[in-house]
Amino acid sequence: MDTEHFKQKLEQELATVEGELKSVGVQNPRNPSDWQATELNMDVMNATADSNEAADKQEEYVENRAIVDQLEIRYNNIKRALKKIEDGTFGVCEVSGHPIEEDRLEVNPAARTCKAHMNEESGLS
Ligand SMILES: [Zn+2]
Repeated sequence: MDTEHFKQKLEQELATVEGELKSVGVQNPRNPSDWQATELNMDVMNATADSNEAADKQEEYVENRAIVDQLEIRYNNIKRALKKIEDGTFGVCEVSGHPIEEDRLEVNPAARTCKAHMNEESGLS
């Protein structure tokens, strides 16, 4: 398998996801795999007499948190896949230990399972 090809794809995607994460959140300085939605600026919240604006801010924070949660999963999956390339275990299903189909990796190089175990991927720790 051409792992160099997948490594390039993963590094490209990692840069994209990291950029998106930085636009809605901040990386936990003590745990690089943990991202948090940008905190609400409470000074702004208190200073604003317009409660609609405060509600908008609150809504924006809730949305950011949902986006950060999704991106964080992708970010960590990509990191994990890059680590696997280093370790020589890339392209192996984490459920069955069988090779992951190359066309699946082409679509999602960070995939952790073969096609037969796709539904179990979200349950992996
Ligand atoms: Zn499998």
